[in-house]
Amino acid sequence: MTVSFKDVTKKFADGTIALDALNLEFNLGEFIVLLGPSGSGKTTACRLLAGLEAPSSGQIDVNGKNITNLPPRMREMGMVFQNYALYSHKNIYENIAYPLHIRKKSKAEIEKRVSDVAELLQIKKYLHRKPGQLSGGQAQRVAVARALVWEPSICLMDEPLSNLDALLRLHMRTELNRLHRSLKKTFVFVTHDQEEAMTLATRIAILKDGKLAQFDEPRTIYREPANRFVAEFMGRPAMNTFDGIVTNGMFESRDLKFPVDAVDGPVVVGIRPEQIQIGAKDGAHPISLTLDVKELIEPDMLLIFQVDGTQLTVRTSDDYSNFEAGQTITLSFPKHALHYFDASTGKRIR
Ligand code: ATP
Repeated sequence: MTVSFKDVTKKFADGTIALDALNLEFNLGEFIVLLGPSGSGKTTACRLLAGLEAPSSGQIDVNGKNITNLPPRMREMGMVFQNYALYSHKNIYENIAYPLHIRKKSKAEIEKRVSDVAELLQIKKYLHRKPGQLSGGQAQRVAVARALVWEPSICLMDEPLSNLDALLRLHMRTELNRLHRSLKKTFVFVTHDQEEAMTLATRIAILKDGKLAQFDEPRTIYREPANRFVAEFMGRPAMNTFDGIVTNGMFESRDLKFPVDAVDGPVVVGIRPEQIQIGAKDGAHPISLTLDVKELIEPDMLLIFQVDGTQLTVRTSDDYSNFEAGQTITLSFPKHALHYFDASTGKRIR
């Protein structure tokens, strides 16, 4: 029971390559999040799966059946896209009920399903209104309701929560999690929001330039990024990385020197902001740096230093409000928290 992209390339008429021989396979029932920088091919992957675009080469299979040339209406997929279009002349109830009407469901079943999904998405009181009488966030929830109401086997969602305010977004995130668990359907979900990706996904596919940079469970993506790109992309603030050279177990970059577990030669060393310790710790090599900026992101604090011509960020939950910019601070990089990447390919070494 799988969905597979096999060597899927999408080249647009102007020569833009949006997907570049993408290979991605996931199981039905998973919650797959497509994540990546703007222009990395997330929406294109979704549109190809929906059948709204055809690949230039390669094929897409669902349960071993080649669906590459199957028209969208034959694909059993519910969709919510950034530019969702509601029928402006129908009221909200009729908009949501529409997919059930065309599937010839009974009036009683339609009423029950529309009522349930409207309750879930908190839009019950707008059912009699026309789309033009809703706010952006309300209209977005109607689009989600319409995509889910007929319980398609795959739900494709491209930034479905982007118009919602922060509180409602959090609420919807929890609802989507619950919905996925109870419906046992497959979700393919595009987002820019890392927290959303980490909390919703069974697996996250990180795209870069139309290629798969990593496909793993959220925990693995965070703890064992497959390459420097993923390491620097995932996590807020991003992982600190340093280019340098190891000699006899000692790493040295322009401004830093500390012991590592790596063979001699050029390497990229990374450490997450929350894993840097403040003060000289037993057995760790102390690193003294001048504090540049301190930022409060309650309940945590960010301490920012200038190192190797870029920023080094420390995230701490301890209270260092007595620290002042310009002050020398001692930091420790525990060896167990270090990540190593190949200096030329960026691939994870360990
Ligand atoms: P975003 O996060 O900004 O929505 P994305 O990862 O979803 O980006 P896509 O929309 O899939 O990216 O676009 C991938 C690449 O293909 C981009 O460079 C985009 O400009 C290009 N592209 C998308 N649609 C077309 C088109 N119809 N013609 C030409 N190029 C296109």
